Amino acid sequence: MADQAFVTLATNDNYARGAMVLGKSLRNHNTAKKLVVLVSRQVSTPCQSVLKNIFDEVKVVDVLDSGDTAHLAMMKRPDLGVTFTKLHCWTLTHYSKCVFMDADTLVLSNIDELFEREEMSAAPDPGWPDCFNSGVFVFRPSVETYGELLQYCTEHGSFDGGDQGVLNGFFNDWATADISKHLPFIYNLSSIAIYTYLPAFKQYGGNAKVVHFLGKTKPWSYTFDCKTRQISGGVQEPATHPSFLLNWWTLYASSVVPMLQ
Ligand code: UDP
Ligand code: MN
Repeated sequence: MADQAFVTLATNDNYARGAMVLGKSLRNHNTAKKLVVLVSRQVSTPCQSVLKNIFDEVKVVDVLDSGDTAHLAMMKRPDLGVTFTKLHCWTLTHYSKCVFMDADTLVLSNIDELFEREEMSAAPDPGWPDCFNSGVFVFRPSVETYGELLQYCTEHGSFDGGDQGVLNGFFNDWATADISKHLPFIYNLSSIAIYTYLPAFKQYGGNAKVVHFLGKTKPWSYTFDCKTRQISGGVQEPATHPSFLLNWWTLYASSVVPMLQ
């Protein structure tokens, strides 16, 4: 359906590389949905043109010169810059339903069935499972909801300083109200969970549909040698599962690098 879309966000060239890989992975698994990326002006022109080749729509969003409410909210909470930018996804009202995906996620199979879910559907956060992880979520664009979210953000801020804190505060009955809004963990498999519960990963990890490279070290923080297929560097914390990281780099090297040249 044309009025449904996957949406991601990149405010700089590093996250833009993540968005390129995510977009490619959705296309490779034959999604029937539109692909939208929100970018800020900090994303370079070459990266924006690669994004235009992969995504149906590249929308430049800049909180500072967008609508009055967003501007005012931003003036009161300058600390929440990227968060306000992510909330822009609710303004995509030419779509009736969307799935937001962080730029540090990678799709391993077709996930169009997520559009059968309602706002706000999301998977539990591995660190605090009564909160949802905001790296993958189903939502309905709406100017009203957008306004309410900005107001919530301005009044209450974010308990974790990012979008996940705001969204969990706003959609605060997620944990208890409706089990159909709890996405299975395989739609947002955080690499960290692999190490915190290894037997479960061994049992269920093969069913993973989306991996999320959550945390400080992103796939693009490492370096990759195309010839030896070796990944090195970037390890200050529990490393991401090597095979998922290799998936990301293989796709990046084969499909994205040629477009960047
Ligand atoms: N993001 C961005 N620029 C930034 C930080 C974040 O564009 O400087 C976007 C990007 O889509 C990213 C999402 O916001 O995937 C959430 O941030 P991140 O994935 O770094 O948080 P984590 O999942 O590690 O908590
Ligand atoms: Mn993320």
